[in-house]
Amino acid sequence: MSAKVTKVAVMTSGGDSPGMNAAVRAVVRASIYNNIECMGILRGYQGLIENDLIPLDSRSVRNTISRGGTFLQSARSKEFRTPEGRAKAYENFKANGLDALVVIGGDGSFTGAMVFNEEYGIPVIGIPGTIDNDIYGTQFTLGYDTALNTVVEAIDKIRDTASSHNRLFFVEVMGRDAGFIALNAGIGAGAEEILIPEEDMGIERMVESLNRSKINGKTSSIVVVAEGERSGKSVFELADYVEENMPEYDVRVSVLGHMQRGGSPSCFDRVLAGRLGVKAVDLLVEGKSNLMVGINNNKITATELEKAVKLHHDINTNLLRVADILST
Ligand code: ATP
Repeated sequence: MSAKVTKVAVMTSGGDSPGMNAAVRAVVRASIYNNIECMGILRGYQGLIENDLIPLDSRSVRNTISRGGTFLQSARSKEFRTPEGRAKAYENFKANGLDALVVIGGDGSFTGAMVFNEEYGIPVIGIPGTIDNDIYGTQFTLGYDTALNTVVEAIDKIRDTASSHNRLFFVEVMGRDAGFIALNAGIGAGAEEILIPEEDMGIERMVESLNRSKINGKTSSIVVVAEGERSGKSVFELADYVEENMPEYDVRVSVLGHMQRGGSPSCFDRVLAGRLGVKAVDLLVEGKSNLMVGINNNKITATELEKAVKLHHDINTNLLRVADILST
């Protein structure tokens, strides 16, 4: 039977995503509900190494639910990857009287948590926070829904200008090696073509398909390109290729970039953050460790961190068919 948790630390680590503040708030309030003290670690693992922590109570997380980014700030720490760095982190952890850690971040942050647990026996729970939605063990990661809405809104605006000038726009969206944002925002914004890393359609097929759209009476088009797409060409090279092969189109490129990570979290992400934060603390109270909380079929679940890190979250490729049908 593991010892009762009395003081928990929460941090945000890796890339930031909307909803992280709402998750911190949920962990703090769920801890207090369970008579557990709470501290926030600033700047992820690096902040723990440098003993940069703040006490958190219910009032210190007021007005955070609607804020994008992370008020605890995030960082990538090279030092935590070394045994010496982790030893410093452990010293500070103990000096602050902490006995459990909740990490809000991506698979790298979870790997760090597992290593920390293995070396020092500290109970660790992960909350998946990334806009990319590329984590196994949860259908939705924190920030993904907000990013989708941000991308759809941006593409709607781009379409206004595209249709005023008979333009073809290539819009590059984030997602690293995963096409979740591209595929779902592409369908949501009515894109004519969607290029994702999970399926290499080939650029000739894309040109053919754009030609078909033109014959069908479309005068402007949007092609959504995931940043990790596998044609081997950058979004600018893709645009050049199409411009050469379809001179009738005025081709433009828009790389949406970091605006996709910002903004106030959607209601979905806020509710998800609340549910995941409460579950994370519940698991610690039950004496559990090395788990990632997630949502599957609208149920809050726990998956071994090892699986969350090693296994792959597959995209629903049926959606490509839906996208194809809807863009005719
Ligand atoms: P994102 O999805 O935005 O990349 P992430 O959590 O995957 O988020 P990483 O930079 O991969 O981001 O990891 C965050 C931090 O976790 C690293 O800076 C490092 O401090 C720690 N970390 C990652 N892998 C390890 C490891 N193998 N051992 C120890 N610490 C690690």
